Parts: sequence; structure tokens; C-alpha cells
Amino acid sequence: MNFHVLTLFPEMVESGLNTSILGRAKARGLISFEAVNIRDYTLERHGQVDDYPYGGGAGMVMQAEPVCRAYEALAETIGRRPRVIYMTPQGRVFNQAIAEELAREEELVFLCGHYEGVDERALEIIGAEYLSAGDYVLTGGELPAMMMIDCISRLIPGVLNNDASAEFESFHDNLLEYPQYTRPEIFMGMQVPEILLSGHHANIEKWRREQSVRRTFERRPDMLADAKLSQKEQEFLDKLRETAETSQNSVP
Ligand code: SAM
Repeated sequence: MNFHVLTLFPEMVESGLNTSILGRAKARGLISFEAVNIRDYTLERHGQVDDYPYGGGAGMVMQAEPVCRAYEALAETIGRRPRVIYMTPQGRVFNQAIAEELAREEELVFLCGHYEGVDERALEIIGAEYLSAGDYVLTGGELPAMMMIDCISRLIPGVLNNDASAEFESFHDNLLEYPQYTRPEIFMGMQVPEILLSGHHANIEKWRREQSVRRTFERRPDMLADAKLSQKEQEFLDKLRETAETSQNSVP
């Protein structure tokens, strides 16, 4: 998978992505990142890339020309027009399912806005899709792009040492992950759940699934509507709901 980030702050993207697991995956040739400086594509003499908004109002708007030229140069190098995603609070909110879908691409372009955003015409011309990091406004699209690239990269085979660790994480089956423990067995008087020390894999697996259901019920009940549960797990969830209702009704 080749990630291309169109940005006014390439150093921010490069330093953010070249570390830890992603840096190692890049060194092993599993993924590549390229931060393209939009400023290199301006035709303005002083390197200008933004201007005042037509119609007035606060802030500056990134001009269409350098954005389009940066994208077209990239398309020419790749040999086709790759999928391009504009980072914007107005887009669909990114999630694991979107990451899984994007992980099937070979080339992905992330366009990072700054100031008041990008001239609308550039977005239409390059055929941008719109994705958001969440319902809040940031100063630029670099952090959302890095966040999405990080998430997508983890789904590329070989990026994580143990591929199973991506498969059984939170949001798999629309459930949150179970609680995790490591050594020591007792920390500040708190004991690791006995079952995890039993070596009985089937029981451990059952306990973990139940913990996932419980955790999702307590922290993200909205996810449960689409959760894939066995009949036993559904019964476990029904019991949790009953208990919660009973204790709510018993509050004076
Ligand atoms: N004026 C824009 C609006 O109200 O929709 C917000 C512009 S924001 C200050 C500057 C840039 O940051 C945006 O062009 C976008 O690239 C990025 N950005 C801000 N919040 C974001 C979010 N929640 N998700 C993705 N990108 C975001």
C-alpha cells in the first residue's frame, strides 16, 4: 500500500509516520509514505498557496491551482488517477469498517486542508471523497490523515508481527476488546483473573468473549445492535440488561 499525503506541512507527516511499527513496516517495504508539499506546485512568485475568501469572512482559503497541480503530478507518476480523500469535519466519520475497505486499495491520497479549508473547485476537479476524524474542528488535516494511515496500515498483512492481533481487537464483530493483563500476577494487591492462569484455552476464550460483551454493553451500547453474538452470548447480554434494569428500578 502506498500512501501519498498532500500537505503544506510535510515534515509534520513524515516525522509522525516514520516511527515505531509503521516506520518498521516501511523499512520492510510493506507500506510506503510520501508527503507531497502542495507549496511546490504553486505558480505564485512568493510561494503563496492561500488567499482571502470570496464574499468576505474570516481566515484564508487554500487555492485550487496548487492542490490540483499536486494531485495531477501524482496521478501522472502513478499512471492513473488514484482515490483521493479530503480530510474534513464535514465528511463521513472514519471508523474500522471504512479502514477495512480502504486497506484493499494499492494507492491512497490524503489531502490535508488548513486555514478555512480548500477552494471547493479543487475538490470537485480531483474527485475527492470526504472523511472526518470526528465531530470537532482541528487546525489542519495532517493529524486526521496520520490517524487514518496508522489505522489502515495495521490491516496490511505483515505490518503487525502477529496478524491475529488486528483481527481480535476492538470493533471486531462490533464488540470492544476484553481487558488485558500482563506480569506481575498481583499488582498493588490486585490479582489477575484466575481463569487467565488456568491454561484452559476454551474457558479463557469464553470468558474473554463475555468480557467483550459486558464491556461493550457498559461503554458502547450503541455498537451492540450490529454485534455478531452466539446464542449463549446473546443470553449473557440479556442477563446483563435485566440486571441493569432491575438495579435502575430499585433506585428510590
Ligand atoms: N472551515 C472548515 C469547516 O468549518 O468545515 C474547517 C476548516 S479547519 C479549521 C482546517 C482543516 O483542518 C480542514 O480543511 C480539514 O482538512 C482539517 N480538519 C479539521 N477538523 C477536521 C476533522 N474533524 N476531520 C478531518 N479533518 C479536519
